Amino acid sequence: MTASTVRDRFRAEVVVDLDAIAANTAVLRERVARPLMAVVKADGYGHGLVPAARAVLAGGADFLGVAVLEEALALRAAGITAPLLAWLHGPGTDYAAALTADVEVSVSADWALEEVLGGVRATGRTARVHLKADTGLSRAGATPAEWPDLVAAAARAQADGEIEVIGLWSHMIYADAPTHPSIAAQVAVFEEAAALARGAGLTDARLHLANSAATIALPNTWYDFVRPGVALYGLDPLGGDPAAHGLRPAMTVRAAVALAKRVPAGSGVSYGHTYVTERETTLALVPVGYADGVPRAAGNRAPVLAAGAQRTIAGRVCMDQFVLDVGDAAVEPGDEVVLWGPGDRGEPTAQQWADAVDTIHYELVTRIGGRFSRRYVGSAGAV
Ligand SMILES: *Cc1c(COP(=O)(O)O)cnc(C)c1O
Repeated sequence: MTASTVRDRFRAEVVVDLDAIAANTAVLRERVARPLMAVVKADGYGHGLVPAARAVLAGGADFLGVAVLEEALALRAAGITAPLLAWLHGPGTDYAAALTADVEVSVSADWALEEVLGGVRATGRTARVHLKADTGLSRAGATPAEWPDLVAAAARAQADGEIEVIGLWSHMIYADAPTHPSIAAQVAVFEEAAALARGAGLTDARLHLANSAATIALPNTWYDFVRPGVALYGLDPLGGDPAAHGLRPAMTVRAAVALAKRVPAGSGVSYGHTYVTERETTLALVPVGYADGVPRAAGNRAPVLAAGAQRTIAGRVCMDQFVLDVGDAAVEPGDEVVLWGPGDRGEPTAQQWADAVDTIHYELVTRIGGRFSRRYVGSAGAV
């Protein structure tokens, strides 16, 4: 074993650069010159919910956004007091818990507003509500046909002092294709919905629409604040080079070689022998697999940095492990293998992996986990 591997013993770890998250936040906020709601859902896109939240706040984020109430309550339990919106609620949501924890909620339907009002009556607290319009994505939000009734009910509840409508919002369909005709169509529907709500007396609500791609590429969607997620973690929502936008990937995924061996030409590798060595060569066993979030589709496709070069995974990715063919390169148990990272040490990026396995980097970073340990570097937001 080399001196460096002895000093730096690890099996499999996700290294998260908190300073990169803070710097990315600051870059985006400066770009839009208005407030920013940082999206930290899905365990901070796999970077850790609470550390990611602290890092974006250190970088100047004004508000936090998450999908489900459990995520919001976890942030509050960790002592994070920033304004916080949770937007995805089914029937039976514990709105009383949301109100008690000072969590803002999104409402897309009359019945959901009724449930929020139940929470208001149970707690005696005014609910801070963002009304969501479906401007074409057909996910959450009230359709243009439903919107007038929802707005009217919300305006009555606001007049009664039960809620404050502080946001009017929607979500982009295809901002990562910045010239797509859906964008202008959504903006038009959104502005009509906002005008109707304001006409009904919801005049204090702020408008928000822009995800990461729109924050980078579509200034006409910025409105009162932007709502980026993936770009905070240094990934380009447009699928290009994040450095072109001043962003740096915050996640490095690495593992230590568990075993290395010489094998003859014609050796079949891993389940099904979908890879066969062409000549006598060295194989390195890497102790992470699909149970840890390394996609099975990465077999014979995705690159990793090992023994000084990028090498494609040899054969199938198994539940706990995969194999590399490093040729005649020197490799020893304990040596580092980097799956993806910022790219500046010669390692692949999450974007390269996404291209190799036909997915998006969002899916890769949010699913990596399993038996990887997580280690934080940098000081932004550290307590
Ligand atoms: C996830 C999400 C975002 C952030 O999207 P990115 O593409 O990661 O910037 C913003 N708004 C809503 C409603 C979301 O679900």
